[in-house]
Amino acid sequence: MSLISSILSNPIEYLKGVGPQRGELLRKEINLHSFRDLLEYYPFRYVDRTKVDKIRHLSGMEDFVQIRGRIVHMEVVGEKRGKRLVATLQDETGKIDLVWFQGWQWMQKSLRENTGYLVFGRLSQFNGILQMAHPEMDLLTGETATGKQHLEPVYYTTEKLKARGLTAKAIGKLTRNLLEQLQLAEIRENIPAPVLQQFRLMPRAQAFFKIHLPATEEEAKQAQRRLKFEELFLAQIRICRLKIRRHKASHGFVFNAVGNVFNSFYNDHLPFPLTGAQKRVLKEIRKDTTTGRQMNRLLQGDVGSGKTMVALLTLLMAIDNGFQGCLMAPTEILAQQHFKGISELLKDMPVKVALLTGNIKGKARKEILTGTADGSIHILIGTHALLEKEVQFHHLGMAIVDEQHRFGVAQRARLWEKNSTPPHILVMTATPIPRTLAMTVYGDLDVSVIDEMPPGRKPITTVHRTEYQRPQVMDFIKEEIRKGRQAYIVYPLIEESANMDYENLTKGYEEVKAFFPEPKYWISMVHGRQPSEQREVNMQRFITNDTQIMVATTVIEVGVNVPNASVMVIESTERFGLSQLHQLRGRVGRGAEQSYCILMTGNKIGKDSQERVKVMVQTNNGFVISEKDMELRGPGDIEGTRQSGLLDLKLADIVQDRAMLQAARDSAETILEADPDLELPENKPLHDFLATQRSKSAWSKIS
Ligand code: ADP
Ligand code: MG
Repeated sequence: MSLISSILSNPIEYLKGVGPQRGELLRKEINLHSFRDLLEYYPFRYVDRTKVDKIRHLSGMEDFVQIRGRIVHMEVVGEKRGKRLVATLQDETGKIDLVWFQGWQWMQKSLRENTGYLVFGRLSQFNGILQMAHPEMDLLTGETATGKQHLEPVYYTTEKLKARGLTAKAIGKLTRNLLEQLQLAEIRENIPAPVLQQFRLMPRAQAFFKIHLPATEEEAKQAQRRLKFEELFLAQIRICRLKIRRHKASHGFVFNAVGNVFNSFYNDHLPFPLTGAQKRVLKEIRKDTTTGRQMNRLLQGDVGSGKTMVALLTLLMAIDNGFQGCLMAPTEILAQQHFKGISELLKDMPVKVALLTGNIKGKARKEILTGTADGSIHILIGTHALLEKEVQFHHLGMAIVDEQHRFGVAQRARLWEKNSTPPHILVMTATPIPRTLAMTVYGDLDVSVIDEMPPGRKPITTVHRTEYQRPQVMDFIKEEIRKGRQAYIVYPLIEESANMDYENLTKGYEEVKAFFPEPKYWISMVHGRQPSEQREVNMQRFITNDTQIMVATTVIEVGVNVPNASVMVIESTERFGLSQLHQLRGRVGRGAEQSYCILMTGNKIGKDSQERVKVMVQTNNGFVISEKDMELRGPGDIEGTRQSGLLDLKLADIVQDRAMLQAARDSAETILEADPDLELPENKPLHDFLATQRSKSAWSKIS
């Protein structure tokens, strides 16, 4: 082992210039624990201080400038608050005033007349004359006489750190201390040479030095490129290895038979022909379940694309092979709806379906638990309640998770701890995930996509309306109701302030009521703070068309299915993210009628909101929207990514660097295909590097 691994894992306080107190602060404020963390604490920009300008050549159009000269005069001018220190700096071409309004007493003491300085700062104009306020002053020494050798790195810092003297500059100094202790040869390469060559990447050690102390912008760029690639490449290597390992190690149940239950349902009870996409996905699932390996499949399909039918048929495959299946939904309402829908479809079949949620208690609960444990219940549908320890299956073969993004990775993992051989897993999401993100976050899952809508759907018409147009919007809803349709009016929900939401909602409800008086119209109100029975009653009245309008918070976002509803009004659209808007819109357009989504905003809205509204008006395609969402918000905010821990990227940005991500992915796959255990000599650097890395336990939980 080289010396370097021990140096880099040293606690940060051991570094020259740090010590226990600053060490503590660095840990708390910016998460720097070790020398390595500091080495990987990259500057976010650079200031070019390699050039020295001549005073006479300054035009005032420059941003920052650096000059070198002697202070020829210093004096304090002005009265009281206007008091300031003015120092006149002279070089061989001219003179300029340097001014301090704050801290001038201290500057007056520390600056010396007739002494040379390297001066860096921003130019400003005062009465038409150029001056520099609060410049950085470096005493001229051998080193600074010619300007700096390197671009100056600028590091992120915090107020607390600054108060302790850990300014951006001071952090730069610490980094230089560290780099002085390190030898180039001690930082080991971890990317195989052929890959370095193929992508013209700079060696690793060089990249670490150059990213902190580049001589030119180009050098900085190349260093960043190398380290970005490394991040993406290592992440992909890990993900691909996981997948290989899972395929090798995992035992899964074999579903050999396509039997009576599946066939008789398919032939006699299917309410509509499947779309091509539904058929294709079922084939993919079938193939997975015959391999003897555990299936881990993500099913992406836009709202309304018909994922439920795929889920049901998949559960029937399990039953035909002597197994039970379960379907887990994120909300009570959705679980109930699945239960009702599936029970109805299976009513003439010898299949027993049960519902288990937190609200089912006492004797009823006991019966369900018993039926699940003895195998007499074939399909168990429910909420998180399914994850409870007391829920024991007789022989669980297929677990389906609907609307996956509501569940954490860890929760999913608990589902397959229910057997010694894990059940097959199908995770269904209506939040289309951009390809690049899927590659990173779900890289070790197999992905199926339903990219085709059931026939006969009319695309939803989406429009933007402001407060001024509210009366017309209400008239429009009246007209739709007159034609027999129904409407949703949705209010945003901010978690931090449940009370305010509630006020918003009830105020909205009163407003709507004023436009739609009883008994001509009836309104359901549904929100998260209602007792679930009451919520259920209100939902039910809307489903049966006893109420024509549903006023709700986003509790209805997921899964509610009322094909007769043709209008979705979204209030305060500004406050919703794109993917949420898309989800909400998906509540309409489920029947044969033309449907509408009306995005209400204030009369004036910000640029970002405008952009989101524009995207919504322009497209109904969930994948396009998800790409745009990621662009606008950054990948870290896309639901499901944060808890995954997979996006631990310091430099790379999977939106901006998607081409590089693809290249890293291809490269990782090629290497592992040829050499799965990384035994070839050329892969040794990679192999050794991975061996020294802590195992990231979160990763293995995904499968
Ligand atoms: P989601 O993918 O959002 O879960 P659902 O499974 O709820 O979508 O399906 C939406 C609606 O489309 C349901 O009313 C369902 O019965 C209907 N549907 C699903 N597949 C088809 C199909 N192949 N042909 C016609 N209608 C379908
Ligand atoms: Mg659904």
